[in-house]
Parts: sequence; structure tokens; C-alpha cells
Amino acid sequence: MKEDGKNMETSKGMVSDSKRMSVHDGPGIRTTLFLKGCPLRCLWCHNPENLQTKPALSFTRKLCIGCGACARVCPGGLHSFPGKEHHIRFDACSGCGACTEECLPGALKLYGREMEPKEAARLLLEDRDFYVRSGGGVTFSGGEPLLQPAFLAEVMKLLKKEKIPVAVDTCGDVPWSAFLQVLPYTDLFLYDIKHPDSAMHKKGTGRGNERILENLENLHKQGAAVEIRTPVIPGYNDDPGTLRCIASLLNGYDNITAWRLLPYHSMAKGKYEALGLQYPMPETSMPDDTRMRAVRTELSALFPAVKLSSD
Ligand code: SF4
Ligand code: SF4
Repeated sequence: MKEDGKNMETSKGMVSDSKRMSVHDGPGIRTTLFLKGCPLRCLWCHNPENLQTKPALSFTRKLCIGCGACARVCPGGLHSFPGKEHHIRFDACSGCGACTEECLPGALKLYGREMEPKEAARLLLEDRDFYVRSGGGVTFSGGEPLLQPAFLAEVMKLLKKEKIPVAVDTCGDVPWSAFLQVLPYTDLFLYDIKHPDSAMHKKGTGRGNERILENLENLHKQGAAVEIRTPVIPGYNDDPGTLRCIASLLNGYDNITAWRLLPYHSMAKGKYEALGLQYPMPETSMPDDTRMRAVRTELSALFPAVKLSSD
């Protein structure tokens, strides 16, 4: 499967994980389903297990008891124990999952498995009572969920039959045709604007922002409800000029329900290590609450619906 939004047109989805009782992925209490694959490579990504479309192996070293069961079943011979240290050749892993099934302490975990739309809908309907009582619903996130629009639309149709509100958390960098497939079933798009300048966008994410801004314009024309999300990254987009520029861009749209500022954090560092990846973000300190509140106050004069993740 390729990550261009066209070659993943199967009704089965490649799903990484789900999170119940989420209160940060849209209104009310929600279940978030994480889908695999992303066209961007943001330096600050906190879900690196979802970057690739194929399953990703994760290894928690402190849980490993060195039994060697994984090495005995791996078809590629990718587990070895030089000097008693457990070494894994992550780059050659096919994601078959054989080693994870043999690992009794749970040191090995696979992110990514195929799921039928009906199975996904069943899982997502388990907490429907909480959605109803809290004004919540289901959020599709990732990775980039719109890389799998056919699967998404199938699951959404099943949820809509049960009158469940649906949100899609997207980076926006997918073909407009993917949006068209899910538009009839989507109540809210959570839409990332990371940098208003395309060259800077490319520096931080690996790609320019042209298609993202074009799709934002298209969503406006369609009258779709959109909440903008901006990760506030020190030294990248947290200067007043950049944030004001985003505010003035958003002022052109009357379909934006809120602009949420999400402060950078480095909590995903451990995930990178477990996946055999280098943490790509240069040493960066997290913006504190006082700083974030000051930024919100300043920007609210330009865009009143600006909020923090804690609001
Ligand atoms: S998931 Fe990767 S490391 Fe584990 S058995 Fe399969 S190929 Fe080997
Ligand atoms: S099977 Fe699990 S506990 Fe045993 S050596 Fe492999 S990773 Fe470690």
C-alpha cells in the first residue's frame, strides 16, 4: 500500500490502536481510532508508530527477560543477543507479528492490523452511552486517517445509522477526493495548520502547505465545520509574527468553530526508542502554562475563538 491516498482504497482498514474516554479529540467524551500511514514527517510527531502504513514493531526493553523466544520464531532472524543485549533489526522487520505472539512478558508489541468496517464500528459503539451523555462521539485520527477514505466512509456510514457524531483529525495533505468521500458523514474536522509559510512548513514536516491551504478553502466552500489545531513549537512557529499570520488567515473563514493551540511536549521520546527510531526534534523545552495563556490572550484580540488544549 502506498501513502498517496489512492492506493489504499480497500474497504478493510489498517488500524493502529484505539483510545476510549478521550477528552482532547473533539467535544465531550470520545473514542479515538488511530489509523496507520501519514504523508508528513513532523519533527515533533507524537504518534511515530503510525507514520508507516505497514505494522510497526515496538520493543520495551525493561520488560524483556532475555528468554530468546522471539529469536526462535522470527523468519528474518532479526532478534539477536550480542553481549546479552537484545538487538533488533527494525529496518528489516516485515511486521509479521510472530515474535509478539511468543513474548510472554509483553515486551514486543505490533502497531497495526487490518480491520473490517463492521468490526471497527462495533468497537466504536461500545461507549455510545458516554457519547450521548457528554455530547461526545467518535474521532478518527492517525497518522492521517484520510489516507484510507474508503474504509473511513464505510465505518462512518455504520456510525451514522446509530446517530453517532463523528470527527476527523487530519493534517489536510491528502487529495480533495478523499475529503469528498467522508464529507457527508463528518460533523467536525480537526484540521492542522502548522505554519503559514510553505518553505517553513516543509522544514518542519517534510512537505509544503499548498494542498493543506487549498483543502481548507474547499472545506469552507462546502460549509464544513472545522476546528483548527496548531502545535506550538518553540523556535519554529511560536513567534508573534507567525501566530498572527495564522490568525489573519483564519479570519477569512466563517466555518471555523475554534483555533486550538497545542503546546509542544517531548513525551513521545520513549516511543521513538521503542520503535528503533531516532527522536528527530532538536533539544527543545516545552512552553509552560503561563506562556501559553499569554499567547492565547494576545491572539484572542485577532481571533476570539482561540483556545488552549486545556480549555
Ligand atoms: S514482527 Fe518483525 S521482528 Fe517480529 S518476527 Fe516478524 S519480522 Fe521478525
Ligand atoms: S520473547 Fe520477549 S522477553 Fe523473550 S527475549 Fe524476546 S522480547 Fe525478550
